[in-house]
Amino acid sequence: MTLPLEESIRFLRGVGPRRAEDLERLGIRTLEDLLLHVPRRYFDRSRLVPLCDLRPGESLCVRARVEAVQSRPPWRGRGGTVATVADDTGRLRVVWYTPWTRNQIEPGNEVVLAGTVIETRGRLEMRQPEFERVDADSQGWLHAGRIVPLYGATRGVSQKLLRSLVDAALARVEGAVPEVLPAEVRGALPARAQALRDVHYPPDAEAAGPALERLKLEELFFLEVLLLRRRALAQARHDGIRMRRDRSLHGPYLQQLPFQLTAAQERVLGEILADLESGSWMQRLVLGDVGAGKTVLGVAALLSAAGNGLQGAFLAPTEALALQHAERLVAPCAGLGVRLGVLVGSMSEREKAATRARIQSGDVDVVVGTHALLHEGQDWKSLAVVVIDEQQRFGVLQRGALLRRDKRPHVLLLSATPIPRSLALTLFGDLDVSRLDEKPPGREPVRTHLVPPAKHAKLWEFVRGELAIGRQAFVVLPIIDESETLELRAATEEFARLRAGPLAGLPLGLLHGRLPAAERDALLQAFRRNDTQLLVCTSIVEVGLDIANASVMVVHHPERFGLAQLHQMRGRVGRGVQPAYCFLLPGPDVGDAALDRLRRFAATDDGFTIAELDLELRGPGDLAGTRQHGLPALRVADVTRDLPLLLRARDHAAALVALDAELVRPEHAAIRAHLEARWSDRDALAGIG
Ligand code: ADP
Ligand code: MG
Repeated sequence: MTLPLEESIRFLRGVGPRRAEDLERLGIRTLEDLLLHVPRRYFDRSRLVPLCDLRPGESLCVRARVEAVQSRPPWRGRGGTVATVADDTGRLRVVWYTPWTRNQIEPGNEVVLAGTVIETRGRLEMRQPEFERVDADSQGWLHAGRIVPLYGATRGVSQKLLRSLVDAALARVEGAVPEVLPAEVRGALPARAQALRDVHYPPDAEAAGPALERLKLEELFFLEVLLLRRRALAQARHDGIRMRRDRSLHGPYLQQLPFQLTAAQERVLGEILADLESGSWMQRLVLGDVGAGKTVLGVAALLSAAGNGLQGAFLAPTEALALQHAERLVAPCAGLGVRLGVLVGSMSEREKAATRARIQSGDVDVVVGTHALLHEGQDWKSLAVVVIDEQQRFGVLQRGALLRRDKRPHVLLLSATPIPRSLALTLFGDLDVSRLDEKPPGREPVRTHLVPPAKHAKLWEFVRGELAIGRQAFVVLPIIDESETLELRAATEEFARLRAGPLAGLPLGLLHGRLPAAERDALLQAFRRNDTQLLVCTSIVEVGLDIANASVMVVHHPERFGLAQLHQMRGRVGRGVQPAYCFLLPGPDVGDAALDRLRRFAATDDGFTIAELDLELRGPGDLAGTRQHGLPALRVADVTRDLPLLLRARDHAAALVALDAELVRPEHAAIRAHLEARWSDRDALAGIG
């Protein structure tokens, strides 16, 4: 019986609860999931070699008859199975290290064997070949005698199992695979049904490429339709709150700053103000390296709202960062007659309630708080602008919380993770992106050095010197995934060691995730006042912490961090005018590749370059936290490697959305249906748009 693609794999023979669970680990639940689990590569086993033509060292495929088979006596602890097979031209000894193979074949069977032939003691032998009986049930040959797929497998899910499941699934969905790509997008690429077949079992070596390309293009096309449509619908349906520039207070604020905006800041500010005054709904992301000066842009947007008699919110990922922003806003707000409110978790319930009431009644204009502020069902008198700092910690789905309001505030996201273009297009395809690609003048790059163990003593001496002249330092220990206790121990030990030894007598602090919020804040305040001169931290949670006096960052086990993360940490120092240093202390067992990566990191100070490097080395999943952004990992395409396809898909998607964002035209019915059926769970925001 024919089955639709969205049917569960449990409908395939041989898939019970246990196996379904194993497959789930590969992300496979439906027949479609299974068929989109495309091979990593292929073996060409289409040519069958007569036994007389075998050469040692070759990986090849033979068809033969089993003459004898027996258990192999355990040898060096390993049992196994030995068989002799023959065809009309010769004989071959075959060895498996698996005793149970003995029960799977018997003399007289016809088998196809695929493996490598070696020469041992003057005779040829095939070891551990994949084999398939070709006389039994005539499924066709799955494992040999053709071009055979090689999958990413997992425990409990072997290559052979995947091949036969895929084969069974292909048979079941035959005739039930509708085309979903418009003809102009598909071009000369194979139809969906054919692509799904050819990508697993290509009839010839040339067929796999176009099949895979077709499936990738399809995935990227729908992703981009999803993102662009989300944006188009939201913007079409919701007018933005229009602001007037002549009322805005950003001008006087910028004037009293002790510095001039950089050209990049001016440009991005222009983009933001244009959004706010346009009457359309701003959803803008500012991507800028650490220290590029994003904060003033956010403040300018908030003051534009305040000047127009509307409210603005400035949200930070942590309380410490929120307080830092609040502190810096006090003076300008007071000077401009803007009423500032602060709402963070550590305030007393009474204080919080009072602030909430003032927010609701419109007695405050600018509110600074943590991201949580959005989720707490706060009522606002006239919320018009929300600035979300350190947006990389704030997912696409969380943005949904903002959209659920009746009057949608303009949204300005500030992100210190510069990301490559390919990722910007996917992760933030539903946003307008401004790149703040220039740093304020006079900043010297942080001098970054790898420090071998032999030079550690000298390093601490140097740190002592910096502290002696009043500077401050961070010492970071990596997150140890498995255990918070271990992590804490490592930090505590390092703290004790530094205090007893190299940095004895200096004011050191220990900051870790287990500290109660109040203690943590006290510690950070002390650091801010330079009462504490050095902080040992389990990881720098306070991403945006801006302490101009900090000049040294020491990172233990830098090989355990992503480069973008290291770059973030390095950005904690070098904010003042004095030279700043970042010392990387790799562990003793660090590999050459990791060292090389760290050297490349040390050699550049540009966040965008580092983002590209990180992407190249680690793949997109790790870099920006694809999941955290609410987009599941793509199944077939890989934005790192498939940028040209992504751009092609985006062009097609943009044309479609410009023409018919609602997808109501009859010729777009198939696209709409597919989008709703397959992508709706990825489209948590669409329903809100
Ligand atoms: P980030 O982009 O990492 O959030 P911040 O906004 O915290 O950076 O800015 C870092 C530091 O640079 C702050 O102390 C800020 O006052 C200062 N700054 C911002 N813009 C300029 C500028 N145009 N010229 C000089 N200093 C600036
Ligand atoms: Mg910042």
